[in-house]
Amino acid sequence: MKIKVYPRAQLEALWQDDKAKFAPDADFPPKCLRCGNPLHPRLIRNPLSRYADIHICNSCGYDEAGRSISSKPLPFSQWHAAKENLDNVIVDAQNVSLKTECTFPHIYKQTKPIPLSSTQYPVSEIVYSRSDYDGNRWWTTWFDCQEKKPEWELTQEIDGFCNAFFDLPEMSNLNTMRKFCAFAEPTSCPTEFNFYAETSRLYIWIRLITRNKDYNAYIHYYQK
Ligand SMILES: [Zn+2]
Repeated sequence: MKIKVYPRAQLEALWQDDKAKFAPDADFPPKCLRCGNPLHPRLIRNPLSRYADIHICNSCGYDEAGRSISSKPLPFSQWHAAKENLDNVIVDAQNVSLKTECTFPHIYKQTKPIPLSSTQYPVSEIVYSRSDYDGNRWWTTWFDCQEKKPEWELTQEIDGFCNAFFDLPEMSNLNTMRKFCAFAEPTSCPTEFNFYAETSRLYIWIRLITRNKDYNAYIHYYQK
């Protein structure tokens, strides 16, 4: 399993098509995926984005540099090409997209209490994990939410997602995770962020917490 950040991966796939139009110059340069204005006909005159493997126009390059000072990059969802219909761009059916919008709000309507916790959990929650970064590596603890052990296929899918998630370069350490959170869904707490994903059998909610010496990632797995 490979996890891709949506819609960055889709934008990068689009860029691979656009990049092929430069050989090495382009008679009809493609549009900048970030703002929609034409790129410079010479590929090397278009700066590489700081946040994706995509060349952008000069004015977008300046805008990114300015925003990087305040650590407030333009969300990928606000890129010109992302506002057009990106759902048709399939990166790879094997990949799982990490999204910043919950695609499964219905599961929170049916909840149940869990022993030793005051929180209500969706009845479909199988397990959740809690991880913290100790300055050197990630430590993960698991909490079962069902009386019966999940089926083998489900366990495989949960393990596969967990391994792929912590293999992301963005999860190398707390600093890379903080940068990554600039693209996540913000919450009412300025140091907490959300991502969401779906695999064939699971809905997954990820809560990332950027505070040092705290728990830094909770991942909840719900059966579809
Ligand atoms: Zn641009």
